[in-house]
Amino acid sequence: MIYLDYQATTPLAPEARDAMLRWLDGPEGTGFGNPHSPHRMGRQAKAAIELARERVAALLPPGGRVIFTGSACEAINLAMRGSGRGGSISLSSSEHAAVYDTAKTLGQAHFLNVAADGQCNTNQDVPADCRLIAVMQVNNEIGTIQPTAEWHRKAKENNALYLCDAVQAYGKIEVTGADMIAISAHKLYGPKGIGALWVRDGVELDPQITGGLQEGDRSGTLSPALVAGFGAAAHLAKERMEEDADHIEAMWNRARELFSDWTLNGGEDARLHANLNIRRDGLDVNRLMSECRDVMFSAGSACASGSGRPSHVLKAIGLSDAQAKSSVRFGFGRYTTLEEVETAAAKINAAVKEQGL
Ligand code: PLP
Repeated sequence: MIYLDYQATTPLAPEARDAMLRWLDGPEGTGFGNPHSPHRMGRQAKAAIELARERVAALLPPGGRVIFTGSACEAINLAMRGSGRGGSISLSSSEHAAVYDTAKTLGQAHFLNVAADGQCNTNQDVPADCRLIAVMQVNNEIGTIQPTAEWHRKAKENNALYLCDAVQAYGKIEVTGADMIAISAHKLYGPKGIGALWVRDGVELDPQITGGLQEGDRSGTLSPALVAGFGAAAHLAKERMEEDADHIEAMWNRARELFSDWTLNGGEDARLHANLNIRRDGLDVNRLMSECRDVMFSAGSACASGSGRPSHVLKAIGLSDAQAKSSVRFGFGRYTTLEEVETAAAKINAAVKEQGL
């Protein structure tokens, strides 16, 4: 099997797995302590959590706190629901469902336009009652990198907070200023079931999960294993950021050559090269997927690809329903090899030819 779906999730780094095992087993089975207990086992688990918090924070701006959550979806919900009530939320039309659906559910959505290249330009007005701007750093479907520093400035000028969904950016490129930043371990070679919200000092949140408030703004017993795995993955990503980026660049360059007959969705510039979203007019993507079952790729975001609906992101950049439905996304990462890209491309291009394209 060839895995080319790194935006959906990433394999667990061996280093992250090792860091987790200590808290699943531990010496003589002592790794299971509750990190919120005051006794020795609890304190040991707590120390592991605080080390991981530092490691996660080391890839984020200074001057804020890291709140561990069960996922980035939860972090985003905490940010959007917990940072205020009333007023509108201005969001790009290409946000992930976590932001998009939450804004719609809250009845506060004001959509910002996205250009054909995927950019959400800051020269757009936000409503006078805007309380929150949400523009993601790297798009999960097409990889566009948004001008987050400009959006942060714009939010300040409008007395609004700025939430950045940095799930696809964190650990891959620098995550710049915002008031709140949502991240997720499983996009970074860490485990699933753990995310975090970074919150700038001075920004207050209403907890959305009440109980013990173990994380200050969030209740629930933390899993030391998941948190330690997240911390190890972040630490590794920081150390390898340049090396990982060079590797991705090599995959991208080869893939662009191999898929030169396809059309790139979104602009060439300001784009993370871990993500290649391309289309062939008239392509039957379901047929392609069933004929290339041993290549793991995507017809959109993992959340939306089962729905049969055309991607709202591809629609937002101006593609027709037919064009959106004839698009596929390949995602490369740390463990992808050139050979895998070549084998996958050969299989996919052969299957496309069979469709008479
Ligand atoms: N935001 C973006 C851009 C994503 O790609 C994802 C995952 O697909 C999420 C948010 C949600 O992350 P999680 O799976 O941790 O809830």
